[in-house]
Amino acid sequence: MLTYTPPLFRPPSEAKSLILQVTLGCSWNKCSFCEMYTTKQFQPRNFDNIKKDIEQAQSEWPSPDKIFLADGDALVLSKNKLLPILELLHAKFPKVKQISSYATPQNVLKKSDQDLADIHAAGLNMLYYGVESGDNVILNKIQKGVDAQGVCDGIIKARGAGFKISTTNLLGIAGKKYTKQHALNTAKILSQANPEYISFLMIMFPLGDERFLNAFGNDYEALDQLELIQELRNTLANLEVKDSEIRANHASNYLPIKALFPKDKVATLAVIDDVLNNPDPSKLRPEFLRGL
Ligand code: SF4
Repeated sequence: MLTYTPPLFRPPSEAKSLILQVTLGCSWNKCSFCEMYTTKQFQPRNFDNIKKDIEQAQSEWPSPDKIFLADGDALVLSKNKLLPILELLHAKFPKVKQISSYATPQNVLKKSDQDLADIHAAGLNMLYYGVESGDNVILNKIQKGVDAQGVCDGIIKARGAGFKISTTNLLGIAGKKYTKQHALNTAKILSQANPEYISFLMIMFPLGDERFLNAFGNDYEALDQLELIQELRNTLANLEVKDSEIRANHASNYLPIKALFPKDKVATLAVIDDVLNNPDPSKLRPEFLRGL
């Protein structure tokens, strides 16, 4: 049976995908809001072990549509390490339609254009990319390790190499003091980089917020439900993209939204305004269902 080294995470849209661990943990592992891999030391997995997993997966799951390469940032692997994995995957699963992984801006920025193009040509075609915020104050406070221009440049560079990009953007991460600039500057870099998919998650701290608050400083005050929705509205209102799918339907969101921008922009803002102008708990995901 295909086994994993826990904890194992994947994007919500990869729920039906074959998951293959090619690295363990996250090579950065410093973002103050993220506890995904804090119990795990980062390490690339040995090719022989990955090959055994691929052969095992083939006997259990002969024809997956999609494959997700875990853990936290498989794109940290060099072209020389990724290409044999991708070639083996395509040899064993010739009908696979999409191979994806998480990627940090640093992973993309450190690779040459040619290496990115070669990795894409070998079959890794979709990257889940953590934007979190487009505001430099917030990126610094959450210890993202890259500034807003770097976050933006990484998307543009990866898209230039052919990758489809799905960004993760955090609501509530800036607190009350910085919410407006967080929304405005996040919309600004997303508009500039125009990723294919833009996903919003509302920040949650299932293991406690101490680490996050220590890094942020003493000027963090959490947004309430309606303020979180207002922050989503402020971001979407300033978003000028061509053909991007907007997803704020992750379980963390109080108000699930799925839309195509710019086509659905006016209608989406009207839905949000209706909630903001006529607050009614029955229109929102109940607190006990958040994160489920
Ligand atoms: S880069 Fe991603 S996985 Fe790594 S610590 Fe930051 S948010 Fe977590």
